Amino acid sequence: KLSQLIMDNQDELSILDCLDVGKTSQDCYIYDVPGTSELLQWSAEAIDKIMDEIAPTGNNDLAMIRKVPLGVIGAVVPWNYPLNMAMWKLAPALATGNSVILKPAEQSPLSALRLAELAIEAGLPEGVLNVLPGFGEITGKAIGLHNDIDCVAFTGSTEVGKYFLEYSGKSNMKQIWLECGGKSPNIIFNSSKRLDEAAELAAFGGFFNQGEVCSANSRVLVQKDILNDFLKLLKTETDNWLPGDPLDPKSKIGCLVTEEHALRVKKYITNAKKETELIYEAKNFDRQSVGTFVAPTIFMDESASKEISNEEVFGPVLTVIPFEKEEDAIRIANGTKYALAGSLWTDDLSQAHRLSNEIHVGALSINTVDAFSSMTPFGGFKQSGFGNDLSLHSFDKYSGLKTVWIKY
Ligand code: NAD
Repeated sequence: KLSQLIMDNQDELSILDCLDVGKTSQDCYIYDVPGTSELLQWSAEAIDKIMDEIAPTGNNDLAMIRKVPLGVIGAVVPWNYPLNMAMWKLAPALATGNSVILKPAEQSPLSALRLAELAIEAGLPEGVLNVLPGFGEITGKAIGLHNDIDCVAFTGSTEVGKYFLEYSGKSNMKQIWLECGGKSPNIIFNSSKRLDEAAELAAFGGFFNQGEVCSANSRVLVQKDILNDFLKLLKTETDNWLPGDPLDPKSKIGCLVTEEHALRVKKYITNAKKETELIYEAKNFDRQSVGTFVAPTIFMDESASKEISNEEVFGPVLTVIPFEKEEDAIRIANGTKYALAGSLWTDDLSQAHRLSNEIHVGALSINTVDAFSSMTPFGGFKQSGFGNDLSLHSFDKYSGLKTVWIKY
């Protein structure tokens, strides 16, 4: 019922997220709200297909392995996909029988508050879903340190993810699951015959949602002998990604979440202009100095060592990194502190399989970018965190195993 109510309120929820964070109302309407509704429905439909187990002990014993709810889950989420990120935690946590305290990001509390009202309307018992808006250092920290919260599922920056590990150690050793930052590689091999599509999706992978995406394919690794051809295509594609009014359905991207964040992104761009080669800057974009608009920008960093190639910018900025051989691509792709997602383009089946072993990320897309669904796990390694959202595996984060052994 809640899933249906979310769709019944598609207009309002889309506008709330658009007004809060500056992403386009169109994207919220087409992707965020239906995705949120679909995941809740999928999780509710999945939960009664999961059985407990009986271990093969002797004839005089019955050993049951039960999955039990953990109790109270704290869900602390970011602002880039306010509704989706909330539901990535809520759906499996509620389906597995827990109560949840959801803390939306301080920049984007509106849709979470509306969701709480819809949950009551849908008949969820009071107290099962609690939405507690507040600042990170106050409310988020209080959740992290609370002795009656059994588990925190966090999505956000690596820096704050590490705080949650500390909060847990300083309080009740609550379980912590972390979905943190990324600097995902998108590797274009010369064996790919789909350069047009690769360029189109490289632009999408870098600029969609203003580049405010944890799995944004922000490093584009291109094999040297196709570099010039690919760059021509990429630049043409990038012309399509100029920001516009977030409320205008024709806008492909909107503006960044806050002035503070826009300044941070612009500082990365200014620094990169000193350290690397600027290869694309929007022409005739008269909003660049207005409010929180930032136009798509592309740099080239042959060394792959500069700040712009290694730090998570969380804005519409791509770095192109040329490479010669497959082993160079693997080394560069794996060479950051993050290991969240990645993409690669090849028509060579053996190369695809080989690289699927070698590229160390939680989600690898081959001949597309950023592929995911409710059915497939999404999570990372290294300082991208641990524990998966989405898929049946996400249910494990919110359940404990309990052995009940009966002797006849
Ligand atoms: P953030 O870490 O600043 O904030 C995330 C949440 O943590 C917010 O609710 C915030 O209020 C809270 N918080 C902030 N400081 C806190 C503190 N000291 N103690 C407790 N809680 C605190 O991240 P953000 O700026 O909202 O979002 C951007 C980040 O989120 C990026 O790094 C991005 O990669 C990451 N992200 C990751 C995923 C993923 O699935 N891996 C998805 C989306 C966003």
